[in-house]
Amino acid sequence: MEVFFSYLFIGDILKFRYLLLPMIIISLMIFTINNDNVIVNKKIVFGDSAIDYPFFNNNVVDNYFGAYLSKYEYCNNILIDYDYYNVDNKYYITFYKYIFNNNIVINDYDSFIVDTFNNNVIMCDNEITYDFVINKSRDISKKYIALTFDDGPNYNTNKIINILNKYNVKATFFILGTKINNNEYILEKMKDSGMEIGNHTFSHLLLTSKKDNVIKNEIDNTSNLIYSVIGENPILFRPSYGAYNKRIRNIIDYPIILWDIDTLDWKYHNSKKITNRVINKVKDGDIILMHDIYSATSNSLENIIPILQERGYEFVTISELFYYKNISLKNGSIYRYAR
Ligand code: ZN
Repeated sequence: MEVFFSYLFIGDILKFRYLLLPMIIISLMIFTINNDNVIVNKKIVFGDSAIDYPFFNNNVVDNYFGAYLSKYEYCNNILIDYDYYNVDNKYYITFYKYIFNNNIVINDYDSFIVDTFNNNVIMCDNEITYDFVINKSRDISKKYIALTFDDGPNYNTNKIINILNKYNVKATFFILGTKINNNEYILEKMKDSGMEIGNHTFSHLLLTSKKDNVIKNEIDNTSNLIYSVIGENPILFRPSYGAYNKRIRNIIDYPIILWDIDTLDWKYHNSKKITNRVINKVKDGDIILMHDIYSATSNSLENIIPILQERGYEFVTISELFYYKNISLKNGSIYRYAR
């Protein structure tokens, strides 16, 4: 019997060996389709900085955008950012151009409709609006949540503050010391608009691997710069990458504010996905992690805020959130939500 089974097994493999390669290819295709990663990021380089841009895994489309984006590669004064969403084989994508001229930011955009099935790209006359029809559910009991924005300020922060002001929303910005120079007016605008400013280190180092004095400098230098611009010291700290350990907790003279909803906006550049991640998960007392430096993030706010306001949520700063929840913040303690 054993001999018979071995013969059958080897015979089967020999019989089907020509199917092996096509089967591997088919499984790889299924994996790629399900992986939801049709857009894979590539880099476009501006002077000494680089920004991700989308790559469609479709030769005609990629050549089209390769030619479009290569006009901006190695330009010191133009930055490109994007937001997109897709329905079946169609992508709706807007490239946001930020042109720097003597420290003045000029905003511009180009919108396209991409059909990866028929291999064509149409340039639109108007900016694609990233408003989505989402089922709104009503709940009038009062709930508090805190939007937090990391890694700014930059060219997009001003747009974010304008949207927050439009909806009378307060939020917290965890800013980097390296980004303050030339953006002082944005810090003043945050303060005048009732936003809270927190410390997010000076240069976004992974603090867990740094010596005590480096950690202290990273935090103190940023707090001093914030004080020099708005005349107030920050009272909240968020470590870069959310990374901390016992040693950091011991030497930090601030409460450590993390989050419980991560929008992954830096990864998706897709305001619809960002919106869904927030509105499908949000609960009373949540802290939401976003980055003010992306166009997809600012576009998502135009969806998230009205939907959650309709559900009875009030958007407050981190200090207000913990005050309303009657929780006092302690230095070196970790907070991911207020409940
Ligand atoms: Zn960060």
